[in-house]
Amino acid sequence: MIQRLLPLAIAVAVVASTESSHYGWTRASADGNRWWKHVEFLASDALQGRNTGTPGHKRAAEYVAEQFKKAGLEPAGTTGYIQTVGFKTRQIDESHSSLSLTRDGKTIPLTLGEHANFSLRVDPAASIEAPLVFVGHGLEIPEQQINDLDGLDLKGAVVVYINATPQTLPAALQAHFGSAVERWRMYRAAGAVGTISIANPKNIDVPWARSTGQRLQAAMSLADPSLNEYPGQQVAITMNPGYADLLFDGSGHTFDELVALDDQGKPVPHFALPARVSAQISVTRTQLDSQNVAGILLGTDPVRRSEFVVLSAHLDHLGVSTPIKGDAIYNGAMDNASGVAAILEVAARLHASGERPARSLIFVAVTAEEKGELGSRYFAARPTVPRSSIVADINTDMFLPLFPLRQLMVLGLDESDLGDDVRAVAASAHLEVQRDPEPQRNRFIRSDQYSFVRAGIPALAMKVGYEANTPQEVIAQKWTAERYHAPSDDLAQPVDRESADAYVDVVRRLAVRVANRPDRPRWADSSFFRRFAQVAP
Ligand SMILES: [Zn+2]
Repeated sequence: MIQRLLPLAIAVAVVASTESSHYGWTRASADGNRWWKHVEFLASDALQGRNTGTPGHKRAAEYVAEQFKKAGLEPAGTTGYIQTVGFKTRQIDESHSSLSLTRDGKTIPLTLGEHANFSLRVDPAASIEAPLVFVGHGLEIPEQQINDLDGLDLKGAVVVYINATPQTLPAALQAHFGSAVERWRMYRAAGAVGTISIANPKNIDVPWARSTGQRLQAAMSLADPSLNEYPGQQVAITMNPGYADLLFDGSGHTFDELVALDDQGKPVPHFALPARVSAQISVTRTQLDSQNVAGILLGTDPVRRSEFVVLSAHLDHLGVSTPIKGDAIYNGAMDNASGVAAILEVAARLHASGERPARSLIFVAVTAEEKGELGSRYFAARPTVPRSSIVADINTDMFLPLFPLRQLMVLGLDESDLGDDVRAVAASAHLEVQRDPEPQRNRFIRSDQYSFVRAGIPALAMKVGYEANTPQEVIAQKWTAERYHAPSDDLAQPVDRESADAYVDVVRRLAVRVANRPDRPRWADSSFFRRFAQVAP
């Protein structure tokens, strides 16, 4: 796909319009054009897909810092607006790596890239040889009477699981316990040494043929060893579901049969597999730095101004990788130049109108979301303001303004009384509020709001919503199938700028409303995530 190269310096005129809309507030950019200018810069080919640790990402971070400055935000990094984050990187050397199964004394070689891949989010051992145990959904949640690991000997074993969660579980618990980090906590406690994850083909966002192209990219973890999330994990393997029966041969079960049970909401059996896995893993390790960017709009209330509402969006994307249709730049226009542009535009509008809420707002563009929400995890663990002073996070990631904003999809709607705030804002903007229509996609934990949730901070994320069985649903699903994490998420795609503009305004109004609340946001009594709260509500 041929892409237009944009000039590196885009002058963005900040024009305070006095024109009042029927919503009763002042709009500086009612058509979304200024929002789009930010997207055009951040998603231009010149920034090379903003991969964590690259000059393109650094350039994007400098741009965000400039925009924060223009919007009158105070620097809130460790050096100016920048918070430097250190990473360890790992890249697979496939020519010196191998993976195989042994069954009945026979060796079955697995082709890397086709049958299976190593996930280097964990720092793997150089070699491993271990028995395999299939654990079904692989969840151990006694409070929900789910004990998939019961009666299985996992000491020294590699756990094989279907990367799905029972649909009977509340969405929030599906999201939390289905995460790789929480899974490893359970498997490690049971004595396991590694994992093989198999997706349910029905839940796959990115087809294997496309996702496997990413395997040669460097994976990362935070350099700070106290923030390692996979202690003791010697190997993590992702199996191509199309070849999953290589694992199940001789077990008396087929993958199709096991997945059908998952689809029907029936219990999935657990059993030791009559095979062992053996792997040689050659890894090139380096270290690098990347940037979070933070700026503060100081609040007006003498007491509450020392409390902060976070507006977050991730700045990084996938960089330059496997070409698709001759295009190797993964521009990440919607994922997530669009979200960063949204918070920049919120800051610019508040600056233009002179509106300042009681609490302070801290705008944070984070790095390394695509590497596992690492930049936000670092910020939540080492915030540049006291952690106990952060009262909420409102996150925007890939909000997908592909059609007019009529429904507001809210992830985390029922978890805290931020849900009441978002409902009030939506009502005043004549928008319907909806929950995640597909909780099985685990969207609540698949972006940066979750780093704040795990630090005990009430959080939510929003997107342009749609109803089931509508043309909008078709557009959204087509986008995910064709453009999500592909080079075609670029500037040459149809985007509804007015929808984006309306979304930006929802974020602005919600941030102001939360920052003006007399009390801090509180977790719902019924919320599972309440357990992470470190500060008494
Ligand atoms: Zn992404």
